[in-house]
Amino acid sequence: MNTGREPEHVAVVGAGMVGLCAAWFLQERGVRVTVVDRSQTAAGASWGNAGLLAPAFTLPLPEPAILRSGTASLLDRSSPVSVPLMGGRQLWAFLAAFARNCTPARWRRAMAVFNELNRLSLDAYDLLTDGGVGAPVKRADPFLVACSSSAERKHVLAEFAAVRAGGGEVSYELATGAELRALEPVLSAEVRAGLRVHGQRFLNPPEFVHALAGAVRDRGGEIVDGFDAVRVQDLRTDGVDLVAVGGERLRADAAVLANGVRVGALARPFGVRTRVQAGRGYSFSVLPQEMPTRPMYFPGARVACNPLGDRFRITGMMEFQRDDAPLDPRRIRTIIDAVRPMLSGVDFTARREEWVGSRPCTPDGLPLIGRTSSPRVHVAGGHGMWGIVLGPLTGRLLAESMTTGRTPALMRHFDPLR
Ligand SMILES: Cc1cc2nc3c(=O)[nH]c(=O)nc-3n(C[C@H](O)[C@H](O)[C@H](O)COP(=O)(O)OP(=O)(O)OC[C@H]3O[C@@H](n4cnc5c(N)ncnc54)[C@H](O)[C@@H]3O)c2cc1C
Repeated sequence: MNTGREPEHVAVVGAGMVGLCAAWFLQERGVRVTVVDRSQTAAGASWGNAGLLAPAFTLPLPEPAILRSGTASLLDRSSPVSVPLMGGRQLWAFLAAFARNCTPARWRRAMAVFNELNRLSLDAYDLLTDGGVGAPVKRADPFLVACSSSAERKHVLAEFAAVRAGGGEVSYELATGAELRALEPVLSAEVRAGLRVHGQRFLNPPEFVHALAGAVRDRGGEIVDGFDAVRVQDLRTDGVDLVAVGGERLRADAAVLANGVRVGALARPFGVRTRVQAGRGYSFSVLPQEMPTRPMYFPGARVACNPLGDRFRITGMMEFQRDDAPLDPRRIRTIIDAVRPMLSGVDFTARREEWVGSRPCTPDGLPLIGRTSSPRVHVAGGHGMWGIVLGPLTGRLLAESMTTGRTPALMRHFDPLR
């Protein structure tokens, strides 16, 4: 009987960062892969995100501060967190579960798990780049945190103290506004305090994900665009069938469900109860008079920026909304209003590439990685704010568990059946 332990051929649903990493690491272990996507490579959140590989900031989303912002957003349209009043029953159920995880004690517990992830996440990137994925991963030495006051900086310092108290590492120095401006003249005189943070990296998300897809293909993998999987059929001894909306079928020994915010519909029949909710973020790009050379974060605005090729990408917002709702131009304006005072020499009217995408968020802030109730159906998703930095480590762990039948100790925190 096929137990699903040592599959020769795996079908991966979703050609985003997480699905492609799972495919690449399965190939490392000699498994043939077929990746299907309802649209195409990097069609989801893996396209327009900030591209930060920043362990210092890779922290669980449910925290007391975001709960306060979310509550304030019901009254304040300029809040970086948006919760629609008419959200529907499922959204409110998610938010209630999310709120239960926003206590200091639960945040510290989740932080301890993230500390474990953060120790390993960049090494997993090195495996990809050393293994031939051609797009650059750059060192942001230092990564800048830019604040309007030292009081605003205190919140970040408190987070870093909590990271260290939980056994995590973060290396930084305090900096004045003038010191930060000397590094990046795009910062305006409104930046009065901040941090230089070491050991962080960044990449160009569309470029990297396409290079990863190219590497999967070069190693004999197939990537099928336009395959919208609506169902997974467990055939037991014969493996699994992915069934597409038009009735086409793809047979494999096992399946990995890595379809981002839509993972729930496919995974639920296999015992996965955790709701994955869209925490939508927005981005656009501008052309500053003086192009920055490194990413930066504005904690007061909750906005992150990243130089991507010849453009500067600006990202922000956490909008708990339906995945397929149209882009809301008010959210772009909220980001601009928040970040404009902190930047100089930027013409926001000449912005391009306005984009909205869905972070796949879980109520406890932890991803879902591992086997479902079927040994042939696996999940890799729910990474929320951090699927880019955590994608390679996820792929490495999942491929190990699928090909050896042994679950790496770290994966115990991410059980999709929890
Ligand atoms: C504004 C913003 C900024 C962010 N910044 C960062 C950052 O700096 N660092 C970081 O680590 N993370 C960041 N993130 C989070 C990160 O983008 C996500 O966690 C990550 O991209 C999720 O990857 P994924 O592969 O799971 O999902 P996705 O990239 O969404 O990929 C899922 C894929 O599945 C496909 N699909 C869906 N349903 C089906 C189906 N039924 N059949 C077939 N295919 C299907 C979709 O077309 C899509 O291509 C950010 C997110 C946002 C929105």
